[in-house]
Amino acid sequence: MSFRERYDAVKAECEAICLAHGRDPHAVCVVAVSKTVGLPEIEAAVAAGAHNFGENRPDMLAQKACALPEQTWHFIGNIQSRKIEEIVCNASLVHSLYQPHHVAKFDAAASALGKVQEVLLEVNVSGEESKSGLAPDEVASMLDVCSQYAHVRVRGLMTMAPQGNADEARNCFAKLAQLAEELKVGMEPAKAECFNELSMGMSEDWREAVAQGATIVRIGRALFAEDFNEPLDIH
Ligand SMILES: *Cc1c(COP(=O)(O)O)cnc(C)c1O
Repeated sequence: MSFRERYDAVKAECEAICLAHGRDPHAVCVVAVSKTVGLPEIEAAVAAGAHNFGENRPDMLAQKACALPEQTWHFIGNIQSRKIEEIVCNASLVHSLYQPHHVAKFDAAASALGKVQEVLLEVNVSGEESKSGLAPDEVASMLDVCSQYAHVRVRGLMTMAPQGNADEARNCFAKLAQLAEELKVGMEPAKAECFNELSMGMSEDWREAVAQGATIVRIGRALFAEDFNEPLDIH
């Protein structure tokens, strides 16, 4: 299968899952995680209709975003203080903010560029030690920190589910969606209105995520890897 076939199949199934769960079939943004491929593959993906790409290294993000500035670039990787300027220069949406001391740096970098940096807060819902992110009960105070900065706008939450078990993944995604709802209740209406993104679901578990309310899925191998075997039409 070509990228186009895989991408079309993911989009079609995504719409079907949305409809089956009473959601708007266009409610989900498919981010093609391009961290393992080069510009030729990304250009082919653009030709096939993909316009949102995810990168997890600031230098690769910069290189690819500079080459293809018309596309929308998402930063989904680990954040280091000294790379924040580079990330802000190139990312439309940062999915992986969780350290309070990074917020002022994002604000300063965004302010210098005359932009507001849109971010998601990464939450470690499952509590696995190998995963980074805020504990669910730390998110409210992180939101308070972010609200002190005019050039950082929190658009929602992001998580990564434990791999290999669809039930655990579903449970993790349901908890993130629930947490977002609870947090919205305490927000000013203007803030709550733009706090509406849930970035959850990857190649192996994006269907469960869409069923639980994901608005953004981050899919790498199932789009770009020729040997990703999972049949897209069977689940
Ligand atoms: C690599 C990566 C993805 C995509 O993973 P696949 O399993 O290849 O779909 C999604 N999110 C994050 C944070 C990643 O690092």
